[in-house]
Amino acid sequence: MTPPCSLCQRPCPERFRKGRYAVHRCDPCDLEFVWPTPAPDEVRAVYERGYFTGEGHGYDDYFGRERDVAMRKAATRLDALAALGYAHGTLLDFGCAAGYFVEAARARGWSAFGVEPSPEAQRGWSDAVRPYVAADLDALRAHAPFDVIAAWDVLEHLPDPIATLRALRGLTREGSMFAVVVPVIGNVNTRLAPLTWDQYKPPEHLWFFSRASMRATLLRGADARVVREDVAWSRPSRFVDIDRTARAPWTRAARAIDGAIHRALSVVTPSATVDSMAFYAKVGA
Ligand SMILES: [Zn+2]
Repeated sequence: MTPPCSLCQRPCPERFRKGRYAVHRCDPCDLEFVWPTPAPDEVRAVYERGYFTGEGHGYDDYFGRERDVAMRKAATRLDALAALGYAHGTLLDFGCAAGYFVEAARARGWSAFGVEPSPEAQRGWSDAVRPYVAADLDALRAHAPFDVIAAWDVLEHLPDPIATLRALRGLTREGSMFAVVVPVIGNVNTRLAPLTWDQYKPPEHLWFFSRASMRATLLRGADARVVREDVAWSRPSRFVDIDRTARAPWTRAARAIDGAIHRALSVVTPSATVDSMAFYAKVGA
């Protein structure tokens, strides 16, 4: 069976398989997704143990050296919000992990809250942030409407991002801002050598947006129009599965060739090497 596109309802053929997961694609919308959607238990298991501490798929050491990286990213993103006229008010960080962004936003005077379902990430909550974060959205509804809802590296993990955006839209008002970061397809890696792009990692990532399909998803789900886009991450393309071939004698040569291709591309066509983007979208504007 061919699943329908969640944006345009056209049938989406399979594009490629990774492990036992199939990635389907809507060409007109430039949207890709894993289908069938893995069972909730299968997805939950990814985040139960080791995701934030380097034992599983996710982060090497989220609570140690990645804290500094997270705080630097938070500063950049709070600056972007301030430049758009959002410098104070109420803020919800949806999928807040250890609460670093909540902490950074509070330090700038935001009335900031966070929600995070992963028990492992919750263990990273500091005493300072604990009063403002919750395992469940219901615990934070009393603080709505939020002026800003942030979802950093979250939407690609969800079984149904549009349904989640609709639910979050209900916690905002006209003029609120959605601020999200997602990996973006469209770089040469995703176009030419999808199996080696490390963001194609089901069942951890289930949705793969381009800039166009992220804009359409924010509009469809949250009634929000994108007013600013920033490159969040750009990095070498990969045409060789380095992880799988780490011990092969030609790995070093392959990396050198990869690096040379990347440098050439980043000069000729910078968008070809973009790995993830930040989108800022205003509700009802
Ligand atoms: Zn479509």
